[in-house]
Amino acid sequence: MPDHTHDSPGRKNPPVWKPRGDATSETFRKDPYEERHRPGSSTVCTECGVAFLDGIWKWPGEPPEGAERGLCPACRRARDDYPAGFITASGPFLRGHHDEIVNLIRNVEASEKAERPLHRILDLREADDELQITTTDVHLPRRIGEALRSAYSGHFDYHYVPNEHILRGRWTRDDEDE
Ligand SMILES: [Zn+2]
Repeated sequence: MPDHTHDSPGRKNPPVWKPRGDATSETFRKDPYEERHRPGSSTVCTECGVAFLDGIWKWPGEPPEGAERGLCPACRRARDDYPAGFITASGPFLRGHHDEIVNLIRNVEASEKAERPLHRILDLREADDELQITTTDVHLPRRIGEALRSAYSGHFDYHYVPNEHILRGRWTRDDEDE
């Protein structure tokens, strides 16, 4: 049976109560890897080639002239091994469909990354009978989990930890097959 329920982060994990006017609650919600740029400046990532142009990171046709050089937030997270997103895939169904599930996850990443260059998989490993995936952002785990649920049903849920700007998701399907 397809399971269309999923948890909204706010419902399952209400943010810790903070007094009104406490600026830190907003501060901590922000991605710690987000940077400020001088208006009109451009930067090219020396690691992956993505460019900061007109206020956003995008894949450039060619490197902008006079651009500064540096590391983009995704490559800095990779360097620090500091993921923002976590998702696991598990359950008996995974064993019989391992390769196609890994392919699907890679395809989701490829199409996400084409449009949003800072959304990437940092690591995909097998451990404890599950796939453990980490990402550079808090959106990709949801895309992956929703794609898995839409392709194979099963159950997907996630929760967001606002103070740490982290999202954890989990997809599982408990039956073997068909
Ligand atoms: Zn980069």
